Amino acid sequence: MRFRNWSGHVHAYPHTFRRPTSAGELSEVLTSAAEAGQRVRPVGAGHSFTPVAAGDEVMVNLDHLSGIISVDEASQRVRFHAGTRLRDIPALLAPFGLALANQGDVNPQALAGAISTSTHGTGLGFTGFAGTLTGLSLMGPDGTAVQLSATRDPEIFDLARVSLGVLGIVTEIELQCVSSFDLIAEEVVTDLDDLLDDLEPRMRAADHFEFYWFPHTDTALTKTNTRVGPGEIGPGHLAEAGVRNRILNLLDKEVVENGALRLAVELGSAVPSLVPHINRIAQSAVSDRTYRAPGHDVFVTPRRVRFNEMEYAVPFASGAEVIAEIRAAIESRGWTISFPIEVRSAAADDVPLSTAYERDTMYIAVHRYVKDDFAEYFRVVEQICRRHGGRPHWGKIHSLGAGELRELYPRFEDFCALRNQLDPQAVFGNRFTDSLFGLGSRVS
Ligand SMILES: Cc1cc2nc3c(=O)[nH]c(=O)nc-3n(C[C@H](O)[C@H](O)[C@H](O)COP(=O)(O)OP(=O)(O)OC[C@H]3O[C@@H](n4cnc5c(N)ncnc54)[C@H](O)[C@@H]3O)c2cc1C
Repeated sequence: MRFRNWSGHVHAYPHTFRRPTSAGELSEVLTSAAEAGQRVRPVGAGHSFTPVAAGDEVMVNLDHLSGIISVDEASQRVRFHAGTRLRDIPALLAPFGLALANQGDVNPQALAGAISTSTHGTGLGFTGFAGTLTGLSLMGPDGTAVQLSATRDPEIFDLARVSLGVLGIVTEIELQCVSSFDLIAEEVVTDLDDLLDDLEPRMRAADHFEFYWFPHTDTALTKTNTRVGPGEIGPGHLAEAGVRNRILNLLDKEVVENGALRLAVELGSAVPSLVPHINRIAQSAVSDRTYRAPGHDVFVTPRRVRFNEMEYAVPFASGAEVIAEIRAAIESRGWTISFPIEVRSAAADDVPLSTAYERDTMYIAVHRYVKDDFAEYFRVVEQICRRHGGRPHWGKIHSLGAGELRELYPRFEDFCALRNQLDPQAVFGNRFTDSLFGLGSRVS
């Protein structure tokens, strides 16, 4: 069996790859792995850019443990099997008039995979997925599952909300959902300098704000999404926003955001000197638009052009400065970067290994087409972000190990101690997670 992540950058050849169809079967997989001294990696959709989910011995995927377990309509809390893919959730929640509070920009991920790396969307009034977690079930190396929540083993629950699959297998996830909502999306091309001068208030004023800047251009595409109840009229100038035909929306995302991008990055990869011209043409071809659609349709865009990505979570107030420094680095080094830089935000949360732990956060993501070498670009961007106290996304490329991560997460040692308690043999891990959590001696 060969495992390959979404970008194709990570490969693994596990001895055993299992897709259990019941908790009992999963339990047997874990006990026999522990008896044989084999290490286990849970994997969701393989959408992480690092080897965090890759394993040489046993890999376990929960695609067959998917769907809703229970819904508490009064509290709007929904319990899911942990293998549920994000793309299936809108249809599962629709009969209850519920939705996920916020989402990132794609939806193939498994719920457990998304939560385990602190996956996030954008919006200063919202946390990432892990901040909406109200309960989970965790199966340890002995094949026994424990239920965790703010009232059942709260200290373990607290630390286990973001755990990169090194505490055990998450089998069930309870989330605080919200009433379903529409988004009115406004996409506007803006001067980058003006935007950076005004970034904080603009991000604070919107429900969801993000922007894309194509290097070598002076403008950015801003996306501002306003939440409205289904059937509710939008405020002020948004009252007239037309409901966008689903097919047209999809066509736009497929043809403009994927087809045109593929052409541009292929051409840029073959002839790098053309990249600045291509980026300017691409940016000038984007036009302003306003439309309305169900929240999940607006948040998510299919990503067909493969890339590698690094994303840092920097203190909110440092965001504009970090972007200006990255821009200066690109210009001074003469690199040609075809992929846009993506900037988002999230509210501070209380999840110990969340990238937004105890601070409002700006997320700054850089990408390179899969055929282009990312090493030098990512190295320099990482240096800039680290100077500002940035924390790397747990599922995206970075070079940090336990020594540096310890400084970034005040409860890092508590997490390592819990890991030692729940999984003393470090069954759940690989060489990569060992470097993250300081298990240099237990290398498989
Ligand atoms: C095109 C693309 C777009 C993306 N967009 C965003 C975005 O908008 N926002 C964002 O924050 N991130 C984004 N990401 C990153 C992505 O959300 C994370 O890397 C996420 O963890 C991937 O989910 P997955 O199901 O593929 O998990 P995997 O990559 O398969 O695994 C991720 C981690 O979860 C663990 N895990 C998986 N299942 C379980 C389980 N049952 N129990 C315990 N641990 C488990 C794995 O061991 C691993 O440590 C994007 C990635 C891609 C490729």
